[in-house]
Parts: sequence; structure tokens; C-alpha cells
Amino acid sequence: MIPAGSLLFAEELRKTYGRTVALDGAGFSIHPGEVVAVLGPSGSGKSTLLHCLAGIVRPDGGRVVYAGRDLTALTDGERSALRRTEFGFVFQFGQLVPELTCVENVALPLRLAGVRRREAERVAGEWLERLEVEDVGGQRPGEVSGGQGQRVAVARSLVTSPKVVFADEPTGALDSFSGERVMQLLTDSARQANTAVVLVTHEARVAAYSDREIVVRDGRARDPDHAL
Ligand code: ADP
Ligand code: MG
Repeated sequence: MIPAGSLLFAEELRKTYGRTVALDGAGFSIHPGEVVAVLGPSGSGKSTLLHCLAGIVRPDGGRVVYAGRDLTALTDGERSALRRTEFGFVFQFGQLVPELTCVENVALPLRLAGVRRREAERVAGEWLERLEVEDVGGQRPGEVSGGQGQRVAVARSLVTSPKVVFADEPTGALDSFSGERVMQLLTDSARQANTAVVLVTHEARVAAYSDREIVVRDGRARDPDHAL
């Protein structure tokens, strides 16, 4: 049963790659504005879970329900439209477009949604300010530090005011000092915007920024506090 008030819900997710069982009956649930840390050792299925929840990977079994819609029943086109409008993404390496300046990178999701350049770059500039990297707006990703690049990536993930941000090891490539700041800015900004965050990490200390933790082991998710 879907818990009352759940924004994104999954049950009985199964996914295999050849003989590897990546997900073996995993469940998940997150409320609007909630920050949930998904912890677990390397290879336990965290990224696969995130990809299924975000509609990037179609599970072999089980279902994912976002705002009352069964993602596994949508067409690829419908799922990618949903990702563009409702979801934001941050990965371990920012995956910024190297040819664009930082402000253009942050403006990109708005441009793809049909917002005019001036307006898109104005809003992008506000997000760069919120993430304390407004001074690198004119530079290209190759010219900024790892920590600055990740803040730009976080700004880009939030620029469309998504309902859910999926962050997969967002601080995995940073030293602990810049990592902590990126985590703090990501979770603070998301909370202010009532954006839910699915925060995948193998670093236990990152979980301190979450409202709740779940642990993935051998493709199964466990909520230490609540039964899912
Ligand atoms: P985590 O993010 O926790 O490190 P993953 O979800 O990436 O774990 O991987 C879970 C298991 O599934 C691992 O054994 C991994 O090697 C395997 N796996 C994940 N993605 C693929 C893929 N695209 N092709 C083959 N095997 C994969
Ligand atoms: Mg992973």
C-alpha cells in the first residue's frame, strides 16, 4: 500500500544484469520536501534503485509510483518529459557541458523548457548566488574547482524548482570540507523550495544532512526506523 502523503513510492523492485541481481525486492517512499539518504556499500544496488525511481531504468519487476502515476506504465517519451519537468539530477562528477559557461549550464534546463535566454540566465544567476558561486558564472566548467563545479551542478538540478532531486554520490569526488558545504547548500536549498531529495551515498556522515536513512544491502532496501 502507498503510504499517505507519499510523493514517490516503489515496491518489490527487481533488476538483474545478466547473472547479477542488482535489485532484489527493494522498496522506497519519500514525502514532498523530505531528504532521504540511501546508504549502503559499493555494489549494493543504490544507483540502480535511484535510476529506477527516476524512470531512467525500467525495473524487471515491481512498480514505481510518482504523484499517483505508475512510472513503469508510461512510455519512454512520457517518462523523459516527467524527468525534465519534475526531477533534477546531480551526479558524482557534475556532468556539466564543457563548452557552456557555468551560468549557461544552470540555465540549460530552463532553456529546454522553452524559457527565453535572458530570463533563464537571470534565474540561473539567482541560483548561482544561492549556491555561493555567482563569481564563476562566466567561466567554463574546466576553469573552476571540483567543489565549485558541484555547486554549479546543484544549482542546475534545482533551477526548474523540481519536486524531486536525485543525487548520486554528489560529494564523492570532493575533499571533505567542500563536500560538507555542498551537502549543506543542497539540503538547505531543497528544504526551502520544498524539493524532496533522494541522496545516494556510501559515506555515513553525509546522512547527517538527511531527515531519514535507508540502507541498501544486496539489492534490498531497509528502513532502520520504519518497516517499508
Ligand atoms: P551501488 O550504486 O550501490 O554501488 P549499483 O546499483 O551501481 O550499486 O550496482 C549494483 C550491482 O549491479 C553491481 O553488482 C553492479 O556491478 C551491477 N550493475 C549495475 N549497473 C549495471 C549495468 N548497467 N550492467 C551490468 N551490471 C550492472
Ligand atoms: Mg552507485
